Amino acid sequence: MQVNATSRSSSRPSLAAEQVLKRARGVSMYATAPREELTLEEFESFAVDRLIVLRMIENLRIRGFKAREVEQQMRPVLKKHGLEDDRRKDIVSHYVLRLAYSKTEDLRRWFLAQEAALFRLRLESLSSAELEVFLHDHDISFEEVPKENIAGGGVSYLVPFTQALELVAKRQVAVEKGKVVVPQSKIHSIIIARFRTALSKSLATASQFFADIAADPRLASLLRNVDRHDVTPEKNVVDDSEQITADQLDALAATSMPLCMRVAHDALRREHKLKHWGRVQYGLFLKAAGLPMEEQLKFFEAEFTKVMTHEQFNKEHAYGVRHRYGKEGKRTDYTPYGCFKIIMDFAPGPGEFHGCPYKHYGKDRLAALLSTLSIRGPTATEILDLASNHNYQIACQRHFEAAHPDALEQQDLSLAGVGNHPNAYFKASRAYHRAAKAASSTLPPGASS
Ligand code: SF4
Repeated sequence: MQVNATSRSSSRPSLAAEQVLKRARGVSMYATAPREELTLEEFESFAVDRLIVLRMIENLRIRGFKAREVEQQMRPVLKKHGLEDDRRKDIVSHYVLRLAYSKTEDLRRWFLAQEAALFRLRLESLSSAELEVFLHDHDISFEEVPKENIAGGGVSYLVPFTQALELVAKRQVAVEKGKVVVPQSKIHSIIIARFRTALSKSLATASQFFADIAADPRLASLLRNVDRHDVTPEKNVVDDSEQITADQLDALAATSMPLCMRVAHDALRREHKLKHWGRVQYGLFLKAAGLPMEEQLKFFEAEFTKVMTHEQFNKEHAYGVRHRYGKEGKRTDYTPYGCFKIIMDFAPGPGEFHGCPYKHYGKDRLAALLSTLSIRGPTATEILDLASNHNYQIACQRHFEAAHPDALEQQDLSLAGVGNHPNAYFKASRAYHRAAKAASSTLPPGASS
């Protein structure tokens, strides 16, 4: 017997049946490329929205969240980025990223892993009626085992063992004459294996056309740089809600700066100088954090003039500060560097303090640095392991959580850009401390938070 179409009546489906169809059709194997008009804005914004979703899934998986927790966290994210209800956007964004991520072996592997995780999340949330519709829509059928042959009844399928390798490896099914009996509850892993195989082949095919399509000047920039796209929303980066002063910087470095900026700040205070890339990385961060140009000049001058004259500072460094604020040269309003750039750009050499410590420091140096910030024991081990496994930005998020207890529980706190942009880290930390202060000021006298 073959499992095939779900029964349909000719009359209009009930609301419940419509819901089943809608949910089932929200899960796609992306077997047919869309053929439709797309504006350049849509091309880019769809890709970025899907990228945010895939990076979030990667993040949760690396941090060991269980399948149910990943689903709970991802549902609102999928909705927010229009990939829950907008089928067109879901399909188009998949195809845009499929092409962009076909460029190299590493990118193909990354895309395949995250798309398979997203597909799994959606597939496993289908009810059995919805799964039946999905199988029918995708023309997937399995040989059904007669009920009388199954102890305890229920629906089971006979599947070639080569299609059930994950289940065989986990010893969840027994092989007999080259086939395995798979209960309906475990059929997902076979469908996911098919999804992975099909997507892997499609990525290999797309890679052959990548160069030709990316030669189109309208698409070149996005297709070549999409994997580097800084997906941190602008509102999470530039802090226009407050101005800070030079006098506050020591305290802010201790409470709210991410490790990269903390390192640069401490080096400047200790050595009274920073080499070029350190000045640029830290200076742009301070600007976006709300430090006015006059205050940055005051701060840099106070430090640099401990090892040089005021005249020398004015001649060699004051211009650089004004330049970062768009007051010299081409008068460009320079934006602060995001984590991707800081991590991927060149490593700091001897006596330099730019870069990302999670990427650029060895394990012992990073452990010593974390220890000076009172991050020790299992939390330090977790952060060090994340950094050793090249998950630098997630190590930074874990650091944020350790330095800001219960931040994840604070509904109003936007942690979206933490680990993606140093200024998003700073902004989230400032909001956290403001909320903590407001909460403690509302406590009755004698109570402590
Ligand atoms: Fe700085 Fe980003 Fe590295 Fe965190 S992950 S330390 S914010 S560069």
